[in-house]
Amino acid sequence: MTDILWFETDKCFINGQWVKPSGGETLSLKNPSDGSELCQIARGNAADIDTAVDAAHAAFDGGWNHTPAAERGRLLAKLGRLVLTRVDELAQLEALDVGKPLKQARADAIAMARYLEFYGGAADKLHGETLPYLDGYTVYTLREPHGVTGHIVPWNYPMQIIGRSVGAALAAGNTAVLKPAEEACLTALAFADLAREVGLPDGVLNVVPGLGAEAGAALSAHSGIHHISFTGSVGVGQLIQSTAAQNVVPVTLELGGKSPQLVFDDADLDAALPFLVNAGIQNAGQTCSASSRILVQRGVYDEVVSRMAEKYRALKVGASTDDLDVGPLISARQKEIVEGFLAKGADLETAAQGEVVAGAPEGGYFVPPTLFANVPADHTLAQDEIFGPVQVVIPFDDEEEAIRIANGTEYGLVASIWSQNGARQMRLAKAIRSGQVFLNNYGAGGGVELPFGGIGKSGHGREKGFEALYGFTTLKTVAAYHG
Ligand code: NAD
Repeated sequence: MTDILWFETDKCFINGQWVKPSGGETLSLKNPSDGSELCQIARGNAADIDTAVDAAHAAFDGGWNHTPAAERGRLLAKLGRLVLTRVDELAQLEALDVGKPLKQARADAIAMARYLEFYGGAADKLHGETLPYLDGYTVYTLREPHGVTGHIVPWNYPMQIIGRSVGAALAAGNTAVLKPAEEACLTALAFADLAREVGLPDGVLNVVPGLGAEAGAALSAHSGIHHISFTGSVGVGQLIQSTAAQNVVPVTLELGGKSPQLVFDDADLDAALPFLVNAGIQNAGQTCSASSRILVQRGVYDEVVSRMAEKYRALKVGASTDDLDVGPLISARQKEIVEGFLAKGADLETAAQGEVVAGAPEGGYFVPPTLFANVPADHTLAQDEIFGPVQVVIPFDDEEEAIRIANGTEYGLVASIWSQNGARQMRLAKAIRSGQVFLNNYGAGGGVELPFGGIGKSGHGREKGFEALYGFTTLKTVAAYHG
């Protein structure tokens, strides 16, 4: 293991240096595939956050804000290219740390590079406008960075979330303090080291690992932060928003979901089937945009359940490095949460389960992927975010009922509609309360170009695309009177 750790795992990265956490304490980082210790990581605290925020301020005032946008963009693009040359190592780190199969981790590393390439290219295309106004005035707007941005990220997609969040913030001229999750932070540290290697100026990116209630809470409450991006649970998102309210800073919240796929009688089932299952079991279901509800019209209901069940029975679960279909969950705690949900489904019809392979390491946080059929739309398993490889299938009669069920949770992150009827696609795309709607696909390959975010308890603000860049700026209006 230690041979692939080329950076300092038990330190914070502040002002371009690897520094010991001020309290001198470390935390044990676990391998979810067998429960063993991967390494020790820094237990950053409020004092480390203070130092990191000071460094980010100095970097903002001292240069980054005045660096030509094209130059900032060039550095980010260079960092993206460096990530691409290290895809294999980064994928190995992410697979070990998060427990995801290597092929998924590899896709995440490539996505991180793509975010940096996109935001690198976009840095010098972000601009204000001139506005028509009264005679005698010239009015224009300036898009300016907020200043120092805080990024609190979860353990499920560290590389992707850091790429899209930190990439957009830096491109827009902000500096950043990043608090990775205590369950998985190796690629955040690796990223800091690569940023140092490409010559990102000191203090532009600072990384302080540590516990949520310590380093995370200190970052979100810090009066020197001008914007907070958070991805994670609803409960912590609520805390962060109310803390940020004390400092009156904008917050982007990317929380959970209970995202439905709606399958109508006229759907192309051959096209739909792989998406129906993959969107539920990818990353062992630990995905904010996981599709955990499959709504199926009664005419194709039996066929969809039996074809999904067949796919479930073929799913192989095991250690991340064995690159099977499904890896372990992130932690013993997450396993306990998911098993709790499975127990709550004891009254339901289990259509099929995948299999933990013989020889999967003892001590790994494995749960068999489970498909429940004929689930009432108001059942706990059809309402709550499970964050595990569990999907429920819910039958419906007509479009009206489908919309009612689809909109019948507190969330609104992603939805997809499988139907060959164009008018229905358009009607549903409007009627469904969701940040993203996909027609005859799910996720559209996850492109950086597509704005992403939720409504309701799925959060607010948008990541990805130009929308994210706008979110990382504040708009100044300049009105000149010249008669
Ligand atoms: P979490 O929200 O507790 O953790 C996410 C990040 O927030 C981590 O970096 C954590 O250290 C930090 N954090 C925790 N408490 C904090 C606080 N008081 N102040 C500031 N930062 C804090 O998520 P979790 O406990 O890892 O997972 C619990 C549930 O959250 C999951 O079961 C799942 O439902 C959901 N979740 C959603 C996403 C997502 O992508 N939307 C990601 C992870 C977890």
